[in-house]
Amino acid sequence: MRVRFAPSPTGYLHIGNARTAVVNHITAKKSGADFIIRVEDTDKERSTVESEISILDDLRWLGIEWNEGPDKDKGHGPYRQSERDEIYREYTKRLLLTGHAFTCFCSNEQVEEDKKQAMTENRPFLDRCRNLTLTEQEELSFHGEYPVKFKVPVDETIEFDDKIKGHVVFNSSNIGGDFIIVRSDGGPVYNYIVSIDDALMEITHVIRGEDHLSNTPKQILIAKALGLPFPEYAHLPLILGSDKKKLSKRHGITSVDLYRQEGYLPEALMNYLGLLGWSTESGEEILEFDQLVSLFDISSIGKSAAVFDFQKLKWMNGSYIKKYSLSEITDMFIPYLDKAGLEIKSLSREKLENIISITRNSCEILSDIIKPAGIFLNEINIPDEEADKLLKEDYSRDIINTASGIIPVLNDETVLTGLIPGIKENTEHKGKKLFHPIRAMITGTLSGPDLDIAIPVIGYNNLKKRIDYCKQKYC
Ligand code: GLU
Repeated sequence: MRVRFAPSPTGYLHIGNARTAVVNHITAKKSGADFIIRVEDTDKERSTVESEISILDDLRWLGIEWNEGPDKDKGHGPYRQSERDEIYREYTKRLLLTGHAFTCFCSNEQVEEDKKQAMTENRPFLDRCRNLTLTEQEELSFHGEYPVKFKVPVDETIEFDDKIKGHVVFNSSNIGGDFIIVRSDGGPVYNYIVSIDDALMEITHVIRGEDHLSNTPKQILIAKALGLPFPEYAHLPLILGSDKKKLSKRHGITSVDLYRQEGYLPEALMNYLGLLGWSTESGEEILEFDQLVSLFDISSIGKSAAVFDFQKLKWMNGSYIKKYSLSEITDMFIPYLDKAGLEIKSLSREKLENIISITRNSCEILSDIIKPAGIFLNEINIPDEEADKLLKEDYSRDIINTASGIIPVLNDETVLTGLIPGIKENTEHKGKKLFHPIRAMITGTLSGPDLDIAIPVIGYNNLKKRIDYCKQKYC
């Protein structure tokens, strides 16, 4: 068995395409199959090297490796269609010679008009150049560059058993008529060379998005015309947003790179994407890669579209975060703390791990650490809206003034035993009216860690700065 993932390097790795890659990867692992990456970069205007690099990088990050490619020295660099032009040219010659393809000399306007006419008359579009002899084509070709088209047979049944969609039947007369396989600039198009490459690369199973289902009959016809084998197919139902519309940025993050930046873990994304569209018998959802591989069966994927549940992915990520040891997860959080500008360089490892151990449980993604850790690490926490409102109350001002009177005589050792008891003694406030303003003053927010735990970790210097700040702002 041989499978492939064939990204077009025209942008970032979209979560939908990542799902296709994941399903290919899991299938390959399950069957011990070869897994190939083929970069489909024939659209010269839209393909970029940067996009190829970032797509491959995201695949590696997800844990997807490929075990074959033309460039062994570069860790099996992927196949690139742009490097295979000569191969395609040979096949085009063959199609022209056997009469399965023809050069088309019509203007675009002419073709559009003929297509419309065919539609009105409810008959398949047959290009007016399809019956030119080879000699006629050669003579006309002297006048410029023209596209080559595939001569679609009339009224031929094309059928295949899709591993997900079941038995699929097309009639060749309903697939849009004769279509371009090589553009006038000599560039071959996707639907054409995908058939050649899948055959030459001996791909046995093409697993890809359902958006390619309508391309499949064209690809089968081309393979047949060239006498090449064609693979088995599995078309994955689309992924939709919660409103059942095509998944887009409106619904949430769609780029794998952004998930990575926000602090999603590759194993969580692999789990989520690998489980999309089917479920385990036990209903278990957190599946480590090996479990995913052993339970996965492509034919269990439902025929209808899957809704992408951003909350569920986040929750899954949270449970993967919990699996790491304190030391490991601290290392994973550090870049996020650094990037947020939190001063951690001067902290001892012990103190940092102490902060992480208090705050990690509230994190579903790595970047979630910034806010709770900031409670400890910022010099000053500007009170949020709720805290600000509370700190403007008279009783809060009383507490701020009292704290401000006590703090100068305290230090790192005495601040825990001195601050809150001192405020308590010197004001008549109790319960919520005592603790809420203290919390708001110290942390800038009304929820968060136990103050007895927070105070020694925040430390005397920053506590003083925060109290001074509140005194200036509210009193
Ligand atoms: N390059 C195509 C895409 O990115 C691949 C389609 C296929 O897998 O055949 O959609």
